[in-house]
Amino acid sequence: MLQPIAVGQKSLAGYTHLAGRPLIAEIKELAEGLEGLRVLHVSATAFGGGVSEILYTLIPLMNDVGIEAEWQVMLGREEFYNVTKRLHNALQGNPDELSADEWKVFDRYNAMNATEITGGWDVIIVHDPQPAGVRRHVPEKGARWIWRCHIDLSSPNESAVEHMVPLIGEYDNTVFHLQDYVPAALGAGRDGVRIVPPAIDPLSPKNMALSPEDASFVCDQFGIDVDRPLMCQVSRFDPWKDPMGVIDAYRVVKRDLPEVQLALVGSMALDDPEGWEFFNTTMAYADGDPDVHILNNFNNVGAIEVNAFQSQADVVIQKSTREGFGLTVSEALWKARPFIGGDVGGIPLQVEDGETGFLVSSPEDCADRSLRILREPDLGKQLGRSGKEHVRRNFLTPRLLRDWLRIFQER
Ligand code: UDP
Repeated sequence: MLQPIAVGQKSLAGYTHLAGRPLIAEIKELAEGLEGLRVLHVSATAFGGGVSEILYTLIPLMNDVGIEAEWQVMLGREEFYNVTKRLHNALQGNPDELSADEWKVFDRYNAMNATEITGGWDVIIVHDPQPAGVRRHVPEKGARWIWRCHIDLSSPNESAVEHMVPLIGEYDNTVFHLQDYVPAALGAGRDGVRIVPPAIDPLSPKNMALSPEDASFVCDQFGIDVDRPLMCQVSRFDPWKDPMGVIDAYRVVKRDLPEVQLALVGSMALDDPEGWEFFNTTMAYADGDPDVHILNNFNNVGAIEVNAFQSQADVVIQKSTREGFGLTVSEALWKARPFIGGDVGGIPLQVEDGETGFLVSSPEDCADRSLRILREPDLGKQLGRSGKEHVRRNFLTPRLLRDWLRIFQER
């Protein structure tokens, strides 16, 4: 069997004060007709990155409203993860194509995992490209199959898309964050396509309210001088997240504001062989600057620490050059922090330039907006407040749960 993941319990009632009564009532009404629906989520990893972040909240809440939801993680080895990382990169636009042998590895692991999936599900939701090939081997195991895409498919490598479209076209539904991501070959007007952006859990340890004192207490333990300004980016060590562009921006800021510090906080995923190499490259790029703090989960940086860094930072950055959605964006805005993000993928959905943060396309612009925020604390406060309200209305988990229940209702 695939590895089942224990997700614990959450109660929808606890979200009422944040999401509002009408949304909670709507969810309950939708859930009434779905009592006992058996829903399986399949993903490639239970740790690191946005997918696992979402499932740890969404699945307990689905269970709380009466659905029987489970999560199973596919089994893979390094050869598979090497291929799926390259596939991920190609789908986000890297010109490198996968070789015939690499596609064989992809197919072999998908076939093997398909036979391991248990049967009898009303709905099987397959997350992201890694397990997208399981359906065709065992369509009988789910009455309805949904492929959920979490990545930025706005300008993909066409050969990778050509290979994926026949696989995902067999699903009853495909769900994307943005209309822009729907591959033309799938047919934009296609019946089964749904557009649903993800959401963050305001009550998780990563996003729950942390006092400024607690945030600085935690950051202090990682060597941050909490009396000096801090720029911060939280993200996997991945070229698309552009940590080196963030270092470039920090260096420009430092010329004018020598006391500024930078924290790059990045978890390392087990299915990400490129991650360590890129981590080392980023370390080398920082060139021993004592005011650049590069931390990862192997330094004991977990959810609370991420919360502390996001809460403490004077500017939170997500300078991605591709970004499916960017949960880190909503995480920062939810903490009412002044935010600067790359003008790509799902980031503009969360940030209106000049209103709820700034959108930038170069390290120079990023430095310029950082300096503005650091010099005008009132501007930062105003951006942060509007950003938080935008997230409260659009990007908290109850809204995502509602959208899934609507899709389940369509049976
Ligand atoms: N994250 C974390 N620790 C880190 C780096 C990232 O917990 O050191 C979390 C981050 O807070 C967010 C998720 O991983 O919840 C990343 O999701 P996002 O959508 O931003 O990007 P993805 O990794 O899926 O491309």
